[in-house]
Amino acid sequence: MTACIDYDNTIVDWDEKFLTGAKEAIRHFKEKGWTVFICSGRYDLAEISKKLTRNDVPFDEIYHKPRSDVFIDDRAIRFTNWASVKGGAIALAEQSKKTSEWIKEQKENRYKVKDEKEIEPE
Ligand SMILES: [Mg+2]
Repeated sequence: MTACIDYDNTIVDWDEKFLTGAKEAIRHFKEKGWTVFICSGRYDLAEISKKLTRNDVPFDEIYHKPRSDVFIDDRAIRFTNWASVKGGAIALAEQSKKTSEWIKEQKENRYKVKDEKEIEPE
Protein backbone atom coordinates (compact mmCIF):
# COMPACT_ATOMS: atom_id res chain seq x y z
CA MET A 1 0.00 0.00 0.00
CA THR A 2 1.02 3.55 -0.57
CA ALA A 3 0.00 6.71 1.26
CA CYS A 4 0.57 10.25 0.05
CA ILE A 5 0.30 12.58 3.05
CA ASP A 6 0.07 16.35 2.98
CA TYR A 7 2.45 18.14 5.36
CA ASP A 8 1.09 21.52 6.50
CA ASN A 9 -2.01 21.34 8.65
CA THR A 10 -2.02 17.54 8.31
CA ILE A 11 1.28 16.44 9.87
CA VAL A 12 2.25 19.75 11.51
CA ASP A 13 0.16 22.77 12.41
CA TRP A 14 0.97 26.34 11.36
CA ASP A 15 3.28 26.66 14.40
CA GLU A 16 5.31 23.66 13.16
CA LYS A 17 4.04 21.46 15.99
CA PHE A 18 3.09 17.89 15.18
CA LEU A 19 -0.65 17.31 15.16
CA THR A 20 -1.88 14.78 17.69
CA GLY A 21 -1.46 11.26 16.36
CA ALA A 22 0.42 12.23 13.18
CA LYS A 23 3.76 10.68 14.09
CA GLU A 24 2.11 7.53 15.45
CA ALA A 25 -0.12 7.09 12.38
CA ILE A 26 2.79 7.45 9.96
CA ARG A 27 4.90 5.02 11.98
CA HIS A 28 1.94 2.61 11.97
CA PHE A 29 1.66 2.79 8.17
CA LYS A 30 5.39 2.11 7.82
CA GLU A 31 5.21 -0.80 10.29
CA LYS A 32 2.50 -2.31 8.07
CA GLY A 33 4.93 -2.08 5.16
CA TRP A 34 3.36 0.88 3.40
CA THR A 35 5.30 3.27 1.24
CA VAL A 36 4.79 6.77 2.64
CA PHE A 37 5.11 9.82 0.42
CA ILE A 38 4.98 13.27 1.97
CA CYS A 39 3.71 16.08 -0.25
CA SER A 40 3.88 19.79 0.22
CA GLY A 41 3.42 23.04 -1.63
CA ARG A 42 6.39 24.48 0.27
CA TYR A 43 9.48 25.51 -1.63
CA ASP A 44 12.00 23.99 0.82
CA LEU A 45 11.40 20.27 1.10
CA ALA A 46 14.76 19.75 2.84
CA GLU A 47 13.39 21.45 5.97
CA ILE A 48 10.53 18.97 6.05
CA SER A 49 12.93 16.07 5.63
CA LYS A 50 15.08 17.31 8.54
CA LYS A 51 12.09 17.82 10.81
CA LEU A 52 10.66 14.37 10.13
CA THR A 53 14.02 12.64 10.47
CA ARG A 54 14.85 14.47 13.73
CA ASN A 55 11.54 13.29 15.16
CA ASP A 56 11.83 9.68 14.01
CA VAL A 57 8.97 9.95 11.57
CA PRO A 58 9.68 7.49 8.76
CA PHE A 59 8.90 8.29 5.13
CA ASP A 60 10.07 7.22 1.70
CA GLU A 61 10.08 10.37 -0.38
CA ILE A 62 8.91 13.97 -0.30
CA TYR A 63 7.27 15.58 -3.31
CA HIS A 64 6.18 19.06 -4.30
CA LYS A 65 2.48 19.32 -4.88
CA PRO A 66 0.82 22.07 -6.87
CA ARG A 67 -0.80 24.82 -4.87
CA SER A 68 -4.51 24.51 -5.25
CA ASP A 69 -7.62 25.56 -3.36
CA VAL A 70 -9.30 22.26 -4.07
CA PHE A 71 -7.97 18.77 -4.71
CA ILE A 72 -10.33 16.40 -6.47
CA ASP A 73 -9.23 12.80 -6.27
CA ASP A 74 -11.11 9.49 -6.11
CA ARG A 75 -8.63 8.14 -3.57
CA ALA A 76 -8.57 11.05 -1.12
CA ILE A 77 -9.71 11.36 2.48
CA ARG A 78 -10.52 14.78 3.89
CA PHE A 79 -8.22 15.33 6.86
CA THR A 80 -9.92 16.31 10.09
CA ASN A 81 -7.80 14.61 12.75
CA TRP A 82 -5.59 11.55 12.88
CA ALA A 83 -7.94 9.56 15.09
CA SER A 84 -10.60 9.47 12.39
CA VAL A 85 -8.36 9.55 9.32
CA LYS A 86 -6.11 6.62 10.26
CA GLY A 87 -8.92 4.03 10.16
CA GLY A 88 -10.35 5.59 7.03
CA ALA A 89 -6.99 5.40 5.29
CA ILE A 90 -6.64 1.71 6.09
CA ALA A 91 -10.18 1.01 4.83
CA LEU A 92 -9.55 3.03 1.66
CA ALA A 93 -6.28 1.16 1.09
CA GLU A 94 -8.12 -2.17 1.28
CA GLN A 95 -10.71 -0.89 -1.19
CA SER A 96 -7.94 0.37 -3.44
CA LYS A 97 -6.24 -3.03 -3.33
CA LYS A 98 -9.47 -4.71 -4.47
CA THR A 99 -9.90 -2.11 -7.22
CA SER A 100 -6.33 -2.63 -8.40
CA GLU A 101 -6.87 -6.40 -8.53
CA TRP A 102 -10.10 -5.86 -10.49
CA ILE A 103 -8.34 -3.53 -12.95
CA LYS A 104 -5.52 -6.05 -13.42
CA GLU A 105 -8.11 -8.76 -14.10
CA GLN A 106 -9.90 -6.53 -16.61
CA LYS A 107 -6.64 -5.80 -18.43
CA GLU A 108 -5.82 -9.51 -18.58
CA ASN A 109 -9.28 -10.19 -20.01
CA ARG A 110 -8.82 -7.43 -22.57
CA TYR A 111 -5.97 -9.34 -24.21
CA LYS A 112 -7.79 -12.67 -24.39
CA VAL A 113 -9.20 -13.63 -27.74
CA LYS A 114 -12.96 -13.19 -27.51
CA ASP A 115 -15.76 -14.84 -29.34
CA GLU A 116 -17.55 -12.24 -31.44
CA LYS A 117 -20.76 -12.78 -29.43
CA GLU A 118 -18.95 -11.70 -26.25
CA ILE A 119 -18.13 -8.26 -27.63
CA GLU A 120 -20.90 -5.88 -26.75
CA PRO A 121 -21.33 -2.51 -28.44
CA GLU A 122 -21.01 0.56 -26.23
MG1 LIG B 1 -2.00 21.31 3.85
